[in-house]
Amino acid sequence: MPVRSDPRRTRPRTRSTLVLRDASILDVETGEVSSPRTIVAHDGDIVEISTSTRTVPGAQELSVVGSTVLPGLIDAHAHVTQASGDFTEILSWSPSYHAARTAEVLHRMLLRGFTTVRDMGGADTGLRRAIEERLLTGPRLKAGGPIFAPTGGHALTRVVDGEAEVRRALRAELRDGADHIKLTLSGGVISKMRIDSLGFSEAEILAAVDEAALAHRYVGAHVYSAEAVSRALRLGVRTIEHGNFLDEECIALFLERDAYYVPTLATFWAIVEGHTGQHLDAAKRTAVVEVFERGLESLALADRSGVRIGYGTDLHGEGLAFQLEEFAIRGRVQDPLAVIRSATLTGAEIIGESGRLGVVREGAKADLIAVNGDPLSDLAVLSSGRALRLIVTDGEVLR
Ligand code: ZN
Ligand code: ZN
Repeated sequence: MPVRSDPRRTRPRTRSTLVLRDASILDVETGEVSSPRTIVAHDGDIVEISTSTRTVPGAQELSVVGSTVLPGLIDAHAHVTQASGDFTEILSWSPSYHAARTAEVLHRMLLRGFTTVRDMGGADTGLRRAIEERLLTGPRLKAGGPIFAPTGGHALTRVVDGEAEVRRALRAELRDGADHIKLTLSGGVISKMRIDSLGFSEAEILAAVDEAALAHRYVGAHVYSAEAVSRALRLGVRTIEHGNFLDEECIALFLERDAYYVPTLATFWAIVEGHTGQHLDAAKRTAVVEVFERGLESLALADRSGVRIGYGTDLHGEGLAFQLEEFAIRGRVQDPLAVIRSATLTGAEIIGESGRLGVVREGAKADLIAVNGDPLSDLAVLSSGRALRLIVTDGEVLR
């Protein structure tokens, strides 16, 4: 299977220059907002940020006076192929129909201001290629292929048992260009495996971490309990997904191992307050309320302990509409700047794109958004979506 994009197809169709005038840029590292600047982007890169007012021949010019310019947002835990919340329905779709539904999900994510998405199960490298070749309009995509789970793991996963099977399956996925590997290391809220059950043996996890390391990539893991989080971190997992029940031991391990925490509170919020969980029975709904509340406590603990935290949402089906709600949810226990850093700087670190994505500076990709209002004083500027005025992806104005 050809996994690399064809360079003849990925070249910019027209060599384009974009000039954004009057840009008050939020420096997500310092939290300072600049006085009005001119941003010049050429062929997808920011080539100049200055106070110059000279005209650039042949450039598209726009003024964003009065709004705040931020780096394009990064969702570090999404499932772009889960256009329905009913996994049985998804499995009934033909590949071409599934691709069309996925294209719509991708487009909408970009329209919310997410210029980069790390897919944590479902998206293959063909989607990444289709976006790079501009066959689809969507965020930059980091794709890891299927979620790997042991027998008994939850829906839409690829079952692998035993060290040899794990290595064989991961080698194929890494050969085909996966950006990362996703393992299920505990049960989940809606899975058949109990939430406190541990998935995979130590030997299987070590084999997966080893295979990913050999390919210079990494493993992210679905885990809930403190026991499962600590076990994953001790065995070399780099990103912890969900992690709603952290304790002090988990925190110490995050810091010691330079690992990342990617909470996904929006998916539980969508069930509790966004009314997407009508199909769940009363016991499951009560369990979700607890998972959500403990998730907020864990986020607060990780934040005050200095753990590096990415922005994740883990939504599917109608819940996808709540992708920006995670800003408001996190704002209950974190400073606005900390939440914005998660969705920019830290997201870029997680996907290995520090300095290129998640920042507005010379030499970075020209992925940015402009919002009306000050997101540092009110995260609703981001979470409501209504203040979004401009989206630039790869140096091109989307709207
Ligand atoms: Zn999960
Ligand atoms: Zn997920």
